[in-house]
Amino acid sequence: MADPATPPDGSPAPLSSMKELVDAWMRFRAGEVVPCPNDGASLALSVDASAGVYRFVCTTCGTASSWFESGPTGSVEVRPLAAPPPPPE
Ligand SMILES: [Zn+2]
Repeated sequence: MADPATPPDGSPAPLSSMKELVDAWMRFRAGEVVPCPNDGASLALSVDASAGVYRFVCTTCGTASSWFESGPTGSVEVRPLAAPPPPPE
């Protein structure tokens, strides 16, 4: 499976795998604090309401997951990074 979130230096990006992302999302939905893989700070959920996608962003170091969609059952689908929602200006 291709992993578009892997940075050029070859080190795996935090929260880049579906397993990590689904696990973090399930824990977040359950009301748990999801720790940043880099520094253990809590991850905040960033929401792009117009696109209907979410991602986790570390409040301390800025580490961010891929954007993903979630259905009503908690299923997760990662959006291709080639077309991320543009940041609001
Ligand atoms: Zn962090």
